[in-house]
Amino acid sequence: MANTITPPRVVDQKLFVDGKWTDSASCETFETLNPATGDTICQVAAGDKADVDIAVKAARRAFESKAWTRMSAAERGRLLYKLGDLVEAHGQELAALESLDNGKPIRDAQYVDIPMTANVFRYYGGWADKIHGKVIPMAGPFHAHTRHEPVGVVGQIIPWNFPALMVSWKWGPALAAGCTVVLKPAEQTSLTALRLAELTVEAGFPEGVVNVVTGMGPTAGAAIAEHMDVDKVAFTGSTEVGQSIMKAAADSNLKRVSLELGGKSPNIIFADADIKKAANFAYAALFFNMGQCCCAGSRLLVEDRVYDEVMEIITAKAKKQVLGDPFEESTTQGPQVSKAQMDRILGYIETGKNEGACCVTGGRKLDRAGYFVEPTVFDGVKADMKIAQEEIFGPVLTVLKFSDIDEAIQLANDTIYGLAAGIWTQNINTANRVAASVKAGSVWVNCYNAFDPTITFGGFKMSGFGRELGEYALANYTEVKAVVTALGK
Ligand code: ADP
Repeated sequence: MANTITPPRVVDQKLFVDGKWTDSASCETFETLNPATGDTICQVAAGDKADVDIAVKAARRAFESKAWTRMSAAERGRLLYKLGDLVEAHGQELAALESLDNGKPIRDAQYVDIPMTANVFRYYGGWADKIHGKVIPMAGPFHAHTRHEPVGVVGQIIPWNFPALMVSWKWGPALAAGCTVVLKPAEQTSLTALRLAELTVEAGFPEGVVNVVTGMGPTAGAAIAEHMDVDKVAFTGSTEVGQSIMKAAADSNLKRVSLELGGKSPNIIFADADIKKAANFAYAALFFNMGQCCCAGSRLLVEDRVYDEVMEIITAKAKKQVLGDPFEESTTQGPQVSKAQMDRILGYIETGKNEGACCVTGGRKLDRAGYFVEPTVFDGVKADMKIAQEEIFGPVLTVLKFSDIDEAIQLANDTIYGLAAGIWTQNINTANRVAASVKAGSVWVNCYNAFDPTITFGGFKMSGFGRELGEYALANYTEVKAVVTALGK
């Protein structure tokens, strides 16, 4: 089948600081690779401590500038709305860039990532002039009110699985609240964040309000986490790095921290569910985005009476996937983002086999250039196996059997994580009981991955804390100030 879109040509990329493109202080660069081929796309500036410092200074100046502080909240909202419109107007271009850099099928980038990115900016545009405190009926001759003030200069560190969308989750609430930002994209996928930064200029954001420092985690990322003049750090990524960010915040200036980390989310199919629908969704719950979703339904729990039926549908679906060039319209599964991720996933597949689980389909790397892993399904998985406990972040589904609701709840919560859960049943009592019992920030009943800018997202337990999306995300970017005024006689 013919390609629908030609991969874009990309020039070498610089840092975006104070509204200008600049080389890194060291003039060092790194390569960003096309995961479908392993070829170099372009060089990207390797920012480090000195660059983060320059960006933080620019963000601080902007935070205190008249251009930003005197801009009305409604005007900030209008700029966010305009940014959303610009993302939509440049949708094809951004989708192609995303697909090239991350490897996701172009159709997903076009119809999921980029439209959602635009909508998140617009949603927070709506919030900008609706962020306010309360008047409180305090005892005595006082007038008391709270102000929800922007927390200040915000550092944001994001992963590579939804590169553009994660930018909108971070910038949307921060800019609506009146913060200024220094963002570090993942080193594997810097391109759309840089293009979005450029669009903020077109939208009319003043210089220095949005800064993007590309670079490595332990250098540029760590410099953000430990910077004394960053008021808050928002991080999405692995639990391990989340812990190091929290330590750096504690050891520097006690900057506020919000963390959206790993998951090993249970997706529970009860025997009374619409089995065909549940099994089809269970497939997508894990395999969407090549299994690279923090909320992936990676532990499928199936009631014993319908286990074989569910396995049959899922295995057949895995065998039908078309792996290949993300720019080919017929492709349903692209490559993993990097060789390191592919090798990690293949390592887990070996571990699963060695632990005694049965690999019913997939399990291999494709014999071609690029980082392709076959959709893989493990049967006969025990709850204490590594593949049932650790986040694989790839196209590997582990399936476990249960016999009643109590066992389902026990298995669902048998994890250090608590990001999401799916429940498939036609019984409202079962749905309500499991939804109340499962320790997870998102619970989807008879659906999965039902995302919307209005619906908050975030973790229990070691999946992190703080919420993104929806009204709750605004709390990450505001400080509450209580003002008490004595009333005259
Ligand atoms: P993954 O393992 O999925 O790549 P990471 O948690 O390593 O996830 O990466 C998520 C983001 O965190 C990336 O932008 C990465 O560069 C950054 N990062 C990695 N290590 C550190 C660190 N020590 N300090 C700050 N940021 C880091």
